[in-house]
Amino acid sequence: MAKSLESEHPIKAYGYAAHDTSGKFSPITFSRRATGEKDVRFKVLYCGICHSDLHYAKNEWGVTTYPVIPGHEVVGIVTEVGSKVEKFKVGDTVGVGCLVDSCRSCESCISDCEQFCAKQVQTYGVQNYDGTQVYGGYSDHMISDEHFVLRWPEKLPLDSGAPLLCAGITTYSPLRYFGLDKPGTKVGVVGLGGLGHVAVKMAKAFGAEVTVFSTTAAKKEEAIEGLKADHFIISKDEEQMKAAMGTLDGIIDTVSGNHPILGLLGTLKPNGKLVVVGAPEKPHEVAAFSLIFGRKTIAGSAIGGLKETQEMLDFAAEHGITADVEVIPIDYVNTAIERLLKSDVRYRFVIDVANSLKAE
Ligand SMILES: [Zn+2]
Ligand SMILES: [Zn+2]
Repeated sequence: MAKSLESEHPIKAYGYAAHDTSGKFSPITFSRRATGEKDVRFKVLYCGICHSDLHYAKNEWGVTTYPVIPGHEVVGIVTEVGSKVEKFKVGDTVGVGCLVDSCRSCESCISDCEQFCAKQVQTYGVQNYDGTQVYGGYSDHMISDEHFVLRWPEKLPLDSGAPLLCAGITTYSPLRYFGLDKPGTKVGVVGLGGLGHVAVKMAKAFGAEVTVFSTTAAKKEEAIEGLKADHFIISKDEEQMKAAMGTLDGIIDTVSGNHPILGLLGTLKPNGKLVVVGAPEKPHEVAAFSLIFGRKTIAGSAIGGLKETQEMLDFAAEHGITADVEVIPIDYVNTAIERLLKSDVRYRFVIDVANSLKAE
């Protein structure tokens, strides 16, 4: 007989879960595994709300097993370590992002690209190697193998730093990999939301000249004054798009709503790269000639490996990069998700888990 959520593991835990496709969250009691030799257990302090949380909660990708406890932008404080843990001790501040395990032996894992491991275990919404469901950071505590735990830099704020574990690495990694991290590089950022606003900050910290593309004219002030972008283009404005033709070395496209990319390809210089990190429902339409003339590339990128994620956190701390956040108590999560659906947040909600989640 299958064991219940509360008894499948020895350590009692509680959190907030969505129980069906309504995506409505309510308190839940469950359990987490005993501390293994290489495990780090930590009390959750803050957890960001990512768009993926919402997709999972409502089963919009068709892969959700209920109940689902999301959260993959988690910052906490270590309460227990296994006998063979080398990197951490009780009392350390740590982070966990989108991955909690992988095979450790495939080509991707060996080359520090655990994000591409076919056997990766994501932080929630999937099963562990032991066959039990994985639960994320909307909970009192978490446990993970130390390889998947990040050292939290001293200078990095816990609340506004939390979203970097997803939004930060998702934008940092392609900027690095595609060579858009050099001073003077001309970088476009499409969309000014949770991912986009962090992309602008990362690109600026690398010394790039940044152009923001948005459909919302009202975001110009925010982009230029607030985020220190150098240029702002309304992507629906043909004149503005024409004026930007052939000017950019690369573009990070963060938009997850359906949108045309032909115009964006036109703003790339020869050899320019359009890197897709947002995932619209409909396939992108591409005319072959828009790539052929100018030897242009359309590429994709997903989060980053653990080594690179640590490097990103250290870089963010050094350059004072955080997400712009609204900190909320956990019982506000249903309202927060409604507001997130309307893009009514600048730019990320972060749950103050430690101060608002109480055992039932
Ligand atoms: Zn995320
Ligand atoms: Zn692997």
